[in-house]
Amino acid sequence: MKASVFHQHGGPEVLKYEDVPEPKPGSRDVVIQVKAAGCNYNDLWARQGLPGMKFDLPHISGSDAAGVVKEIGSEVTSVKVGQEVVVHPAISCRICEACTRGQEYFCRYFKIWGFQTGPLDGAHAEYARIPEANAVPKPARLSWEEAASIPLVLLTAWHMLVTRARLLPGEDVLVWGAGSGIGSIAIQIGKLIGARVIAVAGTDAKCEKAKALGADHVINHASQDVVAEVRKITNKKGVDVVFEHVGQATWERSIATMNWGGRLVICGNTTGFEAKTDLRFLFNKQLSLLGSHQGSKAELLEGLRLVEAGKIKPVVDRVIPLKDAAEAQRLMESRAQFGKLVLVP
Ligand SMILES: [Zn+2]
Repeated sequence: MKASVFHQHGGPEVLKYEDVPEPKPGSRDVVIQVKAAGCNYNDLWARQGLPGMKFDLPHISGSDAAGVVKEIGSEVTSVKVGQEVVVHPAISCRICEACTRGQEYFCRYFKIWGFQTGPLDGAHAEYARIPEANAVPKPARLSWEEAASIPLVLLTAWHMLVTRARLLPGEDVLVWGAGSGIGSIAIQIGKLIGARVIAVAGTDAKCEKAKALGADHVINHASQDVVAEVRKITNKKGVDVVFEHVGQATWERSIATMNWGGRLVICGNTTGFEAKTDLRFLFNKQLSLLGSHQGSKAELLEGLRLVEAGKIKPVVDRVIPLKDAAEAQRLMESRAQFGKLVLVP
């Protein structure tokens, strides 16, 4: 089969579109024919390599896939050949205390599929292997491209806003990176909860699109002072929840925009991990800093019900042939997109 593969870490040029062996299912695995696959930041991190993390090479990236089940292992009972599925991208044992509590992300065997798995085990290929438990029915109303764009960002944003930050109706939430895949979903979840959403993006065009997705207020961080604008919008109160995934570049402003008793929830740091926190704000204002990583299969199923109902819409910026995966990664690095980039084999 054809796949987007890298044999060594480096720039986008290390990605090769080449022939690799087709995956075979283990007894509790299924192999899907990939119809479309989403791009995520962890594709970039795997390709670049991360200090202290070992990747099994050669590596196929891709944690989001939508496709048709082609082959099932001998012990698979819940998935049938021909079924249309998307992937819950968290691999875990599904047996331990954490897993059975619905907290797979605390499992000692936890891995992000297509990121920490390998060699040759990800979505950016014609066929992909996943454990039976990670196959989730594809929302029928979505196209393949839409379906492939949504699981990882939906799962992550849901876990952040619903489970970790417990965002409430009537609260104010600040969403950084409104043009990113995860930002575009966070805006919609915030509105569904009944919060007032203040979205931040780097261009006026992205701000307009964030508004069209339901954001009540938009701030262009390239031309406006985010902290001052938040103070103005909230009548000096500050926001109750900050949705963080940018990290170093935004952290101090995130803290400065928070209301007394506010919660900041963070799932990543696309601009770096060395952030400065003025501790006086932390204790005086009784702020809560909440880490968040992925989410459970149950949370993905909850989120997908709202997708199926048309209440959360996938935001696909563009669809790119799998052979041009390097081009997709360059686009993502330049933050040129609004929403998700999707590859099709
Ligand atoms: Zn487990």
